[in-house]
This record gives sequence, structure tokens and C-alpha cells, in this order.
Amino acid sequence: MFDKILIANRGEIALRVVRACREMGVKSVAVHSTADSDAMHVRMADEAICIGPPASAQSYLSFPAILSACEITGAQAIHPGYGFLSENAAFVQACEDHDITFIGPTAEHIRIMGDKISAKDTMKALGVPCVPGSEGGVPTLKDALQVGEDIGYPVIIKATAGGGGKGMKVAHNAKEMERAFQSARAEGKSNFGNDEVYIEKYLTTPRHIEIQVFGDGKGNAVHLGERDCSLQRRHQKVFEEAPGPSITPELRRRIGKVCADAVARINYIGAGTIEFLFENDEFYFIEMNTRLQVEHPVTEGIFGVDLVREQLRVASGLPMSFTQDDLKINGHAIEVRINAEKLPNFSPCPGKITQYHAPGGLGVRMDSALYDGYRIPPYYDSLIGKLIVHGRDRPEALARLGRALGELIVDGVDTTIPLFHALLAEEAIQTGEYTIHWLEHWLEQNLG
Ligand code: ADP
Repeated sequence: MFDKILIANRGEIALRVVRACREMGVKSVAVHSTADSDAMHVRMADEAICIGPPASAQSYLSFPAILSACEITGAQAIHPGYGFLSENAAFVQACEDHDITFIGPTAEHIRIMGDKISAKDTMKALGVPCVPGSEGGVPTLKDALQVGEDIGYPVIIKATAGGGGKGMKVAHNAKEMERAFQSARAEGKSNFGNDEVYIEKYLTTPRHIEIQVFGDGKGNAVHLGERDCSLQRRHQKVFEEAPGPSITPELRRRIGKVCADAVARINYIGAGTIEFLFENDEFYFIEMNTRLQVEHPVTEGIFGVDLVREQLRVASGLPMSFTQDDLKINGHAIEVRINAEKLPNFSPCPGKITQYHAPGGLGVRMDSALYDGYRIPPYYDSLIGKLIVHGRDRPEALARLGRALGELIVDGVDTTIPLFHALLAEEAIQTGEYTIHWLEHWLEQNLG
């Protein structure tokens, strides 16, 4: 095991990694921009080092700043968290060149899965079911119209380098194709520097089901069931649960085995998530995330395992601490994302926290870097906390969520807390009968 690792991230996820390190007796180094000098991850880590000005490009995304911080502090490995450098193959290569272990998959796997076309081709070859669509990239509008005709409308045009819900446009018919095609390309170009797009059948009533996988890099891999992340706004998740209300043990076994076998065959190392759309009892691969996900705590809740601990173990050459047979689901877990955002438009709302009180009690976990008097800087993501509850079954988890939300106090800025109070009153949430479009419709009707 490592003696000391550096955490190339901030906020709740940096704190999350510090916690795992502390329990494992591994020393942690926090990095921070000048805007984050007073951040909680800086206080909680064993050491902290300033790596630059507020702009991420010059701090949390700066290879030289982060690699020098490793050098100076003697950290042997880097945990990237999620976002920032977590899926940056060039950074993984740079770590290797400096004899620093990247706690995550290889540069090659990140590269393959970061390009949605090569990801799909790879998964298809590994026997993973995919959404019907174009064979690879679609270079011209003429080709796009042909694909639309072949697979039938509606279709979704996706930037191959896309992520975070950006670079995706739906066309319901040939007439809408031109605009959707051009704007997906333009978004790909401006957000990811790559205007290549591909086309998929647009599924109209799917759920978003993702499978957590974990590999040791030596041909062994397990799956840790699914998370249902169908409740999304602008293709971004806001509420996640495990197990999925629509997934039977038989479906879970089937898709779980396909996923674990696929990652075992490519000697995948570390945590990964294989995302599917799920409709009429069929799974359709959409993408793989080669990192820890924001919503990983719901999986930890039902399996009682620490995924960050496992990441550190396999990265240091140790075996995983569990086998597939050890992994048994216990109860139900739900996570809601608390963002500093003003409803109804979800506009970012940075500012000073005048009062913070985290909920507690049985089955409640609050992952957040907030504290009384903390100033949320305006430069970064608006996620300020994740409330995760665990119950013996789904109704108990829902009741606990309502109770815990009632105890949570975040004063001084607007947050998404009222959204979750309102959602809990909805029948579709109580019964678990929602698809990926449910929340958008609900928002239009209730907040629009
Ligand atoms: P990103 O990388 O931006 O997160 P994904 O490919 O993972 O993009 O898709 C994000 C979300 O977009 C999905 O969870 C789903 O809501 C929607 N989506 C993606 N592909 C399709 C599709 N073929 N049909 C319907 N919805 C889709």
C-alpha cells in the first residue's frame, strides 16, 4: 500500500478520498487553488499545497502544478476523483512518465472509452448490447439523413467526444435533422474540440441504468449491481437509487455478468461504470465512465463496501478485498444531489453559507465539504453536497430521505433542497415508475 497519495480534486469528493485514506493509514495531500484556501478538504488532509489561481485550467487541470506538488510532498500516487483530470489519458501518461501511480484505469482504456464511437465498437465486440445506430462517425448531413431513414426517427445525434449531457441533439424527422446535426457538431467543437458526431436511435421511454464494475487489472472483475439514474435534468442526474426499482435479480445477474466479463477480458483496473438505457427489459449500452461516479455511495450503501479503498488497493497491486460471491445486496439506498442553484432555472448560486447543519441518525450519510461561514467560490461546479440514505427496503429509504431532508439546513444560498421535498410528494417517485423524461416534464409543469 502507498504511504502517501495526492488528491487532485476539491470539494466533497476530495474529502471522500481523505476519509478512505485516513481509515487505511495512508497520508493524504490536498491541492487547492487560491480560491479554495479555506476549503474543508484542505483542512482535513494531512498536508495541503496551493497549485495556482482560481481558474481550473491553471490549477486543478494543470499537469505541471499537480505533478510538482507530488514531487514536493513525496506522494506516490494521485487520486483524481471525478471530473477534472479523472478521464484525461494524457495526464495518466504524464503520471507514468514521472513514476507516479494514477489511481484509475490505464491511459489506453481511458482513451478508448472517452471516444464514444470507439467505446461502442469495443463494447459491441465484447458482447455488450448497444443502441442501434450509425456504424461509426457520420461526416455529412447527407449521411445523417441516410442513417435517419435506415434506423427510423426519432434519432439522437451525439458528439463522439461529448460528456456531461453536452453535444447531444434529438431529431424527430428529416426536417429537424439539419439543425440538430449542425448544432451537435458545433457543441462538440466548442466544448470538446472535436466535431465528429454519430447517430443513435432515440429511445422514448427508457430508464438510465448503470452497472458498477471493478477490475484488478489482471483479468479479474466483479460487478456491483446497478444504479437507476433516470431522474435527470438536461441529461444530468439529480437523484439516484440502488437497486433499480425495475430490475429483477435475473436481469441484474444477466447484465452484471456481461459487464464483469467484458472488463475482465480487457484487464480493466479500478472502478468503472457501464451506462445503459433500459427499455422493455432490454439493455442498450450508451457509454462507459472510467472513474468513480458522483453517485457511487448508493452502491456502497447496499453492498457495504468502500469503493475508494478498493481503488487504492488495486492501484497499489493488492487484490480486491471481495469476490463476486461476497457481494450481497442489503436494502435500498438513494442519493440526492444538493446543488447551490436557484430554482426554477437552476442558475448557479455561489455565496456565503451562514448556517449549515448536516442530518444524521440511522442510515444517513452526508458527503459534503460545507461548514458554517464557508464561501462557495463562483469558479467551480455547483454540487455542494450529496445526501445518501439507506433503508431495509425502498419505502423505508424514501421515508428516511424525507426525514433527513427535513433536518438538513443550508442557509445563505439557494439550493436544490426544495426540489427534493416536492419530488417526494409525487406518486411516480413513491412507486418508482419514472423514465428519463419524467423529471423534465414534471419541471415544466411545476416550475416552468
Ligand atoms: P453524457 O456523456 O453527456 O453523459 P450519455 O451518452 O451518457 O451522455 O447520455 C446521457 C443521457 O442522455 C442519458 O442518460 C439519456 O438520458 C440521454 N440519452 C443518451 N442517449 C440516448 C438515446 N439513444 N435515446 C434516448 N436518450 C438518450
